[in-house]
Amino acid sequence: MYDYDLLVVGSANADLVIGVERRPGAGETVLGGDLAVHPGGKGANQAVAAARLGARTALLARVGDDAHGRLLLDSLRAAGADPVGVLAGGAPTGVALITVDPSGDNSIVVSPGANARLTPGDVRAATGLLHASRVVSAQLEIPLETVVEIVRNLPAASRFVLNPSPPRPLPQEVLDACDPLIVNEHEAKVILGGSDVGGSPEDWARALLARGPRSVVVTLGAEGALVASADRVARVPSVTVDAVDTTGAGDAFTAALAWRLGAGAPLPEAAAYAARVGALAVTKRGAQESFPTAAEVDAL
Ligand code: ADP
Repeated sequence: MYDYDLLVVGSANADLVIGVERRPGAGETVLGGDLAVHPGGKGANQAVAAARLGARTALLARVGDDAHGRLLLDSLRAAGADPVGVLAGGAPTGVALITVDPSGDNSIVVSPGANARLTPGDVRAATGLLHASRVVSAQLEIPLETVVEIVRNLPAASRFVLNPSPPRPLPQEVLDACDPLIVNEHEAKVILGGSDVGGSPEDWARALLARGPRSVVVTLGAEGALVASADRVARVPSVTVDAVDTTGAGDAFTAALAWRLGAGAPLPEAAAYAARVGALAVTKRGAQESFPTAAEVDAL
């Protein structure tokens, strides 16, 4: 018996957002609207998305011993995720400073803060959590050596899901563990090692599979997604919705996919469910605020 359907290992950030008429240039000061503070970071987003769907979810992450850290813990608890693996201290909570202009274009400065201090030792100390979880999901807003340590400590019966965002080249032992590797077009190009990959998403998926992952999922925004494993490559139908804000759609998609795979769904079926979750996430503003419940997915 597993205690958790999904363990997310990843980042937790406070997103500090200010609307401005015009984003400031060098040396310039502009006045903006009121500050909005939102819980974010890909790890915390995935944990909240999965828990809201009903998955028994835990997050292994590091936040600061500060108000932003408490905001993140509160949002996890409110969604029903277990914050048992959230370590506090060592540096301030990670922050994204975001200015948004009326056209929706933004400028972002990220201070990784405590996320950069989630170490391989923290992963080794959480072996009990790894063994208690059916699926382990990670992203790249934490140190790469920490992701390598997850793979090295993964129990044989557990499944590893990776969204390599922000993308960078991956060590072979990480690529080999992915089942699936989940990428958008930009991430696919970076992992394949060049901007001129060419061909169709099917071609990228086959090229990625040849690098070692047991399966690959390519997300295609409003076009849906594509799944690839040794025996076949298949399109996942897109779901037509009125898109308002795509923030967090990829995190919601990944969380939903990881959870359904852990529940035993075949990859195409899990991806079709995840596409509905991703589609619902773009119908509302924000990241965590936009993630649907299972009832909302069923009603779509
Ligand atoms: P990322 O944010 O990582 O680039 P995508 O934008 O591809 O990821 O979104 C992840 C998934 O969410 C997509 O594969 C799709 O299923 C769903 N999705 C995203 N944008 C839309 C949209 N405009 N309409 C319907 N579904 C969407």
